[in-house]
Amino acid sequence: MKKICIIYTGGTIGMVPTERGYAPRKGYFSQALAEIDELQKPEVPDWEMVEFDPLLDSSNVAVNEWNRIGRTIRDRYDDYDGFVVLHGTDTMAYSASALSFMLDGLDKPVIFTGSQIPLCMLRSDARDNILTSLMIAGEGKVREVCLYFAGKLLRGNRSTKSSADRFVAFDSPNCAPLANAGIDITYEEGAIRHFRSDRKLRGPLGMFGGRLRLSEFQNTPIGVIKVFPGIQFRLFEQVMTDSLSGIVLETFGAGNIPEADGALLPMIRKAYENGTVIVVCSQCPQGTVHLGAYEASAALVGAGAVSGYDMTTEAAIAKLYYLFSQGLSRDDIKHYMEIDLRGELTK
Ligand code: ASP
Repeated sequence: MKKICIIYTGGTIGMVPTERGYAPRKGYFSQALAEIDELQKPEVPDWEMVEFDPLLDSSNVAVNEWNRIGRTIRDRYDDYDGFVVLHGTDTMAYSASALSFMLDGLDKPVIFTGSQIPLCMLRSDARDNILTSLMIAGEGKVREVCLYFAGKLLRGNRSTKSSADRFVAFDSPNCAPLANAGIDITYEEGAIRHFRSDRKLRGPLGMFGGRLRLSEFQNTPIGVIKVFPGIQFRLFEQVMTDSLSGIVLETFGAGNIPEADGALLPMIRKAYENGTVIVVCSQCPQGTVHLGAYEASAALVGAGAVSGYDMTTEAAIAKLYYLFSQGLSRDDIKHYMEIDLRGELTK
């Protein structure tokens, strides 16, 4: 019998109504899960739950909490066949991206899920999301960090929250779902990533020897700048100091920026000289950055920026945290930003 560890971090799924809006309540949710008959059926893997204290709205989840989820998995890795992480939907795509990098050598399923309506409310989507996540974790066909929501299993570091109020709240526009859960759970064999593919990596990130290794993140200073028509880049000059380690630049289309007040490139160059790594992502959810395709992006390369290809902003941020926490040189970080480490980008 397979045994799955449920890690309950907080989020709508286990919240109850209070005078100040929905909030998690200590101890309530394990009791509520124990009362769901389907979760005790023989077809469902055995499960045990670890509850975070405090339980969090995922708006408050960041590096320390990612490290905590990572340690919870590492410390129990040999005792379970897989992990289901119950998490708020707001930052679930960030956390799933972070954990995908943090868990080097992962060879078991880690499935993030949550719900749009709390378990205790009418029409809640919590029950199906938990049940199907447990079944998928128990089947063990997908052994990477993924996100299950509303019938789709997505690669964690390709996912993004696309709706604040629909049941289908997540999408992975640049990567086919790893599985679809309809009457049957159908896996997309071609999309699933296998542990061995990590081994092609050479250099400092390729040497973990086939065991799970947790790479905890440090609180690296990272920024995101979203370009918009009329942006006054000069306003950002003050933040471009040598204490800023990385910037994700969300550009138009295939990586284009406005000439605007002519201030961006000198600023990017300054950041580059300071050692800040600039990653160019696209504001388009679907498609890829292609630096140099237009004159409007060619200069970014000259100024030392690297391409984020079709990475989500969530994945690019998580990857920056990861690479900076490895103690790599800036050149290595820039090199690895453009390499597919966990299925997060297509070149
Ligand atoms: N604010 C909640 C959270 O992210 C929303 C949710 O879980 O759906 O924790």
